[in-house]
Amino acid sequence: MAKVISIANQKGGVGKTTTSVNLASALASLNKKVLLIDMDPQGNASSGLGVKKYENQDSHIYHVLIGERTLAETILKTKNPKLFISTANPDLVGAEIEMIDMPQREYRLKQAIATVAEEFDFVIIDCPPSLGMLTLNALTAANSFLVPLQCEYYALEGLSQLLNTAGLVKKNLNPALHIEGIVLTMFDTRNNLSHQVVTEIKNHFGDKVFASIIPRNVRLSEAPSHGQSIFEYDGKSIGALKYQELAKEIILKQNSVETDTESPEQNGNYGEANV
Ligand code: ATP
Ligand code: MG
Repeated sequence: MAKVISIANQKGGVGKTTTSVNLASALASLNKKVLLIDMDPQGNASSGLGVKKYENQDSHIYHVLIGERTLAETILKTKNPKLFISTANPDLVGAEIEMIDMPQREYRLKQAIATVAEEFDFVIIDCPPSLGMLTLNALTAANSFLVPLQCEYYALEGLSQLLNTAGLVKKNLNPALHIEGIVLTMFDTRNNLSHQVVTEIKNHFGDKVFASIIPRNVRLSEAPSHGQSIFEYDGKSIGALKYQELAKEIILKQNSVETDTESPEQNGNYGEANV
């Protein structure tokens, strides 16, 4: 059964997509079968993995949420044979409104993931920068959520709102939801403020903060424009190394709570992304 992790922070530009794409790729390169779900209408995770906007036209996560497609129908293979993706397109903006009148509207993604969960070891969900219905669906569908925090002065701004929302989801929709951890991103070793932010957040959140801290690394920011994860673009970069470390931390955690980590090896008949 897949472990489902939502990458969430309603603050924009903190590294959610960079973390989703590269964590998913890192897990896949560690031989885990991974499904990356792009829940952001911006579609950055989709383009970041090289899936072009016109591809897979009527089979995006939007069509799953409104009941026009099964999740399996939207899943594409990627260059990494262990990594699969369900893409987003701008229609997803409308899903927030279209879902209002739907039965069990907060559970639609959860119900969809349940249909493929046995095929994967991990499902990673890239959330949009808001706490609307899309993020609510992602938090309801998840076993845990991972929060990227940028190492900057306002890092903690809005975090209490996110934690409150997660608390409400846990209370009302998904009792098993827990925080996977906080990952510090865009750390700049030469910047005193970066060090202060790390200290403050570690004081606040203790062992909830991942030991792997993602540095500011130009290779990480260049990779998406080539439609590649950091492992394809520059596997020897510090960014690649740190995302691989993060993936190992998550696998270790997973192994410590679950003795049976083997999942059935099925490859499914998924469409081919032109990557
Ligand atoms: P949004 O809220 O718009 O979805 P996001 O939280 O998904 O944004 P990203 O898109 O991952 O954030 O990152 C924002 C910008 O910062 C991007 O241009 C990305 O390439 C860059 N970036 C992210 N992480 C790093 C890093 N560690 N080093 C350098 N640049 C980074
Ligand atoms: Mg994003």
